[in-house]
Amino acid sequence: MADSSDQTGTGRARAGASKGLFETDRPGGLHQRVHRSLSHAIASGKFEKGARLPSEAELAATFGVSRPVVRQALDILRRDGLIESQRGSGNYVRGGEEAPSAAAASAPFSPVQMQHLLDDLEFREVIEPEAAFFAARRRTPADMERMEAAMRRFEDAHAAGAITHHFDYLFHESIALATTNGHFVDAVRSLEYRPGDARLQMRHLIHFLPSHRGVAVLREHGQVLALIRERDADGARSAMWKHIDAARLRLIDFISASDAGAAVATPVERDASIR
Ligand SMILES: [Zn+2]
Repeated sequence: MADSSDQTGTGRARAGASKGLFETDRPGGLHQRVHRSLSHAIASGKFEKGARLPSEAELAATFGVSRPVVRQALDILRRDGLIESQRGSGNYVRGGEEAPSAAAASAPFSPVQMQHLLDDLEFREVIEPEAAFFAARRRTPADMERMEAAMRRFEDAHAAGAITHHFDYLFHESIALATTNGHFVDAVRSLEYRPGDARLQMRHLIHFLPSHRGVAVLREHGQVLALIRERDADGARSAMWKHIDAARLRLIDFISASDAGAAVATPVERDASIR
């Protein structure tokens, strides 16, 4: 399996022209479900800048909803500047880096959102090093191929100046899949696909801009990948811990520098408050 994105949402996407392209089971009302799914696909870089969205009829079939519901979702995407319509030829992704940044600027992040991101990374720092440990022991040639494909797609997106988040996620998902333990896969997917688009925009801004951060992430991924390839389970665990901890430190830097940062408890303050 060369294309690891085929693994995303397996068994959950409805049959249709866009099968596998979007998560179709997002929570909320019908049009919100469609909107969240499309907006996640665009903001994560899964659906590229300049790409033409499937037609209203195709989207309606994919999500199992009526065309007016699809139209409502598209109206919100258009209003947010994530897509633009071209008369007679359909809807195109504006995406790129300006779309999430523009949305971020118009809706500053709240202390609650920042706290959620810290919680995500705290949890990942517990789960993912262990996933890397088991992946190094159990990986098959097909798992290696999936991880390497995710790395290559990250490198390509980064070189093209495109949003890389989805390819970062695919790398982590491919490690969870290599553990052969579905709980790791569920944990990784639940963090990626839970509601809250502001989270995704924040993660992108913090971890992948400026672009030299993408270089650091690629280097960290390369270390994890090499140790999993060598079946060095302890080494892979420690390299993954360092990668997630580096992400946590980047987030803490971002929070300290932001206006809302003062309202967010640092990990140390939080530990002290529960004693
Ligand atoms: Zn990563």
